[in-house]
Amino acid sequence: MNFCLYCHVQLERSLTWTNWLTVEDNDVLCSSCADKLERISGERCEVCSRAWSSALCLDCQQWRQLGENIERNYSIFYYNDTIREMISQWKFRGDYVLREIFRNDLKDTFEKEFAGNSSMAIVPIPLSESRMHERGFNQSLALAEMLDAPVKQVLGRKSDEKQAKKNREARLRRNNPFFITEPLKQAVLIIDDIYTTGTTVRQAAQQLKLHGCPAVYALTLARS
Ligand SMILES: [Zn+2]
Ligand SMILES: [Zn+2]
Repeated sequence: MNFCLYCHVQLERSLTWTNWLTVEDNDVLCSSCADKLERISGERCEVCSRAWSSALCLDCQQWRQLGENIERNYSIFYYNDTIREMISQWKFRGDYVLREIFRNDLKDTFEKEFAGNSSMAIVPIPLSESRMHERGFNQSLALAEMLDAPVKQVLGRKSDEKQAKKNREARLRRNNPFFITEPLKQAVLIIDDIYTTGTTVRQAAQQLKLHGCPAVYALTLARS
């Protein structure tokens, strides 16, 4: 018997011999929960995935003037209340298995938007050591590992504590929290859970490119 991974109602699925063979083993949400996830559809900014009717949104036009570091970010869902709650239950309350909610969409999007490109290195956004210690797992790595493609953890992240202390000065110097542990000379697909302002993926991309990476794309679950 199967239960919705999120709300725990019993999944109503009449199993006949034929569909028993075809039911996907990671069909994990009830239809009510699944319906509350909103996919970004229609026209979108070609760089950041914001719902937008012309090529580049205003943010991305500004990034371009500052010197754009990413080729493109593709986000799957709108960051609505449901996905916010799902993600927070998953990463802050440590309900690791909830990543299964996103497996199919993540894999499908990787295939469709990035052609399952095996020449790309899959690079998760890292947590700082202190954050990793308190949370127990890195949600971006948990997502990256579901792509069935080689994951390269070549980014490190300075501790949040130091960042917080230095905050003002850091912001003035536009300090980058990321550093490279192994340079990559191939295109990279960054994986992260949420694209908010786009600063995180661009800071990571900046470090990657400073160390010889030719192109940086991003695949993120949700776009706020
Ligand atoms: Zn449910
Ligand atoms: Zn944009």
